Parts: sequence; C-alpha cells; structure tokens
Amino acid sequence: MQYKNNGLAILLSLASKFLIMDFSWPQEYIDYKDKITAFATSQLQSDMITRDLAGDFSQELWKKCGDFGILGLASEPAYGGTHTEIDVLRACFALQGFGYGCDDVGLGLAVNAHLWTVQMTISKFGTEEQKKKFLPKMCSGEWKGAHALTEETSGSDVFSIKMTASETEEGFLLNGHKRLVTLAPICDIALIFASTNPEHGKWGLTAFIVDSKSDGFSQLPIQQKMGLRTVPIGKLQLENCFVPAENVLGKIGAGWSISSYSLEYDRCCMLACKLGAMEKQLEQTIEYAKTRKQFGQSIGSFQAVSHRIAEMKSRLEIAKILLYKMAWMKKNEMPGMLDGAILKLFLSESYVESSIDAIRVFGGSGYLTENGIERGLRDAIAGIIYAGTSDIQKNIIASHLGL
Ligand SMILES: Cc1cc2nc3c(=O)[nH]c(=O)nc-3n(C[C@H](O)[C@H](O)[C@H](O)COP(=O)(O)OP(=O)(O)OC[C@H]3O[C@@H](n4cnc5c(N)ncnc54)[C@H](O)[C@@H]3O)c2cc1C
Repeated sequence: MQYKNNGLAILLSLASKFLIMDFSWPQEYIDYKDKITAFATSQLQSDMITRDLAGDFSQELWKKCGDFGILGLASEPAYGGTHTEIDVLRACFALQGFGYGCDDVGLGLAVNAHLWTVQMTISKFGTEEQKKKFLPKMCSGEWKGAHALTEETSGSDVFSIKMTASETEEGFLLNGHKRLVTLAPICDIALIFASTNPEHGKWGLTAFIVDSKSDGFSQLPIQQKMGLRTVPIGKLQLENCFVPAENVLGKIGAGWSISSYSLEYDRCCMLACKLGAMEKQLEQTIEYAKTRKQFGQSIGSFQAVSHRIAEMKSRLEIAKILLYKMAWMKKNEMPGMLDGAILKLFLSESYVESSIDAIRVFGGSGYLTENGIERGLRDAIAGIIYAGTSDIQKNIIASHLGL
C-alpha cells in the first residue's frame, strides 16, 4: 500500500514491529503438528466401525501413541516427557492434528484424560519421588491414568464428594465409590479425590494417587454408552483401600485447587482433538456436497446446503480462535476459568450442531453407520456433559459477569 503521507507510513511500519498479536505459528509447531497428523492418519485408523460397534478399546493403538511420544506431552524429559518443556500451545496445535487424522474420538478422549487430568497434575504438584515413580510409565503408555471426581450424588455439584479418607498411622483408608470415570475399568493408577475433612466442604478434599492393584480397590465392568464407545468408562469402588501417605498429591485439603487446575488444561487440550475432528467432518461434507447430484446438479449448489456448510465452517473458525487463545493463556500460566468456559461451551455445542448438519447434508447415507458420519454425532454429545455440562459453563461465565 502506498501512503501519500510519508510520516504516517513510517509510524505504521514502526507500530507493526511492536504489535504483540501474531497469528502465525512457529515452524517447529507446524512441523510437529504435521508429524502427528501423518502418524494418526497412517497408524491409528484400524477397524473403526467394527471397534465402535463392539465397544473395543485398542491397546495396540494406545501403545503406538506411547511409542510415538504423544503420551509424554505433559511431562518433562527427565521423567520420560516428549519435549524439553511442557508446552500446552504446541500440544493443543498438535492434538488438533491428532483429532484430524485419527477417527477414533474415544482414543482421543483416553489420551487427553490420561495426559491433562492425571499426568499434568502429577508433573505440576507431584514430589520428586512421585514424578519418578509414576510419570515414566505414563509417558510410555505402560500405565493408564484415570481422574476420579464424579460420584452418584456429586455430578455438577462436583465438590459435594462423599468418598472419605481417614488418616491412619502410615497413610489413609479410602471408602466410597466413583462413577462415569474415563478409563476406570482399565486404569493402572487413579487420581482419587476424597474428603479428609468433611466439615470443610471443598477445602476438605485431598487428591490421592491410587494404584489399581491396591487391596480394596475394585474396577467395575465397562458400562455401555451412546458414543465414544472405544474408550471404557465406569465405576470404581473403594473399600478400606489403604493409600500410603507418600501418595497424597499436593497438600492435604488441596484437592479442589488441584482439580480446578487440571480441568482448565483438560478443557483446552481435550477440545483440540475435537477441533481436528470437526475439520475432517467439514472436509468430508464439502466433498459429498460437491459430488452428490440431485435434480441434475450437485447438492452443494443448493443454497440450503451450501449455507449449512458455511455455518459449519464459521463455527470451526470461531472455535479455533477461542482454543488458540486459551492454549496461549495456559502456556503463559494465566488463569483461564472464564475463557475455558466460553471455549468449552462454544466448541462442544458447535461440534454437536455441525455433526447434525453433516448428517443433514449426507441425507440417508449420513444416517448409515457404515459411512461413519452418524458416529460423529454420537461422539460429540458427550462433550456437552463431561468436564462440566454446558449449563455449568454458562453458570461460570455468568458468575464472572457478576450475576
Ligand atoms: C463420556 C464421559 C466421560 C466422563 N469422564 C469423567 C472422568 O474421567 N472423571 C470424572 O470424575 N467424571 C467424568 N464424567 C462425569 C461428568 O463429569 C458428569 O457426568 C458431569 O459433570 C455431569 O454430572 P451428572 O452426570 O451427575 O449430571 P447432573 O449434575 O445430575 O446434571 C443433570 C442436569 O442438571 C443440570 N444442572 C445441574 N446443576 C445445575 C446448575 N447448578 N445450574 C444449571 N444446570 C444444572 C446439568 O447441566 C444437567 O443438564 C464423564 C462423563 C461422561 C459422559
């Protein structure tokens, strides 16, 4: 652009040098995302429809993720981590590629729950001994971690937890149950939140790292569910389950702070995989709209269809900006409760909306299981429930507005 006023041109050019907002990605991030996308596309696509129908978690794919290094994104290299530093922004960008390349959205949920609600939490709050003991096996994929908060009576009211932890001479005895926990039926360790002081409400909660082989620790059978069938979720029953004092994560009474911390990372990274899945879904929908012909023309030439796809694209692009902003905030260790809630609400609701739109565009073919389009909707629905329902995200947003 030519400026008639030279002074203005110089001023603008100087200002642009100091602008902080920069939408470009470092080449290193782009390369890593490309690598993960290629890996997920070529290595993680086995028997998706059959495994979804059977509800099979693939140990083989999990191991491949461990071998590739994806399961070490939330640890430092000294404990088996993938990169020289834990970088949530790079991880989110890469996990978008994972979600794009890997049709197994259940596997994506397993990877993220393991990484951000258990591994990251131990990385941040663990003692040196805890990090040495638990992180390397989590990074390699030998151990799977579950994050157990929810109980029969504490769902959205997440900190009305009834599970108790009574102190003994050498540790704690845990009693109670957890439900709806991702990976619970097959986890090797579980981060269990229990009350060490019921009178103090949420400030009386403590986080415990519990070995699933401990006496009194029962993993109940896998529960059937609507979508995400390739990741098992279920109940844990703890009866006089002894946990040594050295397995307390953080301080006694710090359970609420620890869980809130991990939920912000979880809301961010878990959604990155979904963003990738939405990208793939959009591409498939555009392709179908271009090739499917009715009334002698491609259905994409009907405005009703093309506008639907335009809305899918708009949702995707808005979600992308919200996600990257949140990931940038977490990389810079900024509090992200409000932004996390807006992101979670918008992205998970958008994924549901766009999944319905994709089915509408595919028509009857979209409704058939063999085409993999209907699975998108079944997988998307869980996102408006877990890690806080959409109603709860709206409550968080409203409370930040002083309401
Ligand atoms: C696939 C999946 C994976 C999950 N993984 C885990 C996991 O790994 N670990 C774990 O601990 N939990 C997990 N959960 C549990 C999940 O976090 C809870 O299901 C969720 O928090 C909602 O709790 P609830 O099911 O008891 O519903 P409820 O809290 O009973 O809510 C029922 C309805 O009431 C609404 N409601 C409740 N309170 C309010 C309010 N104050 N304002 C407005 N509306 C309200 C809700 O929005 C919802 O519509 C998972 C759930 C799913 C579906």
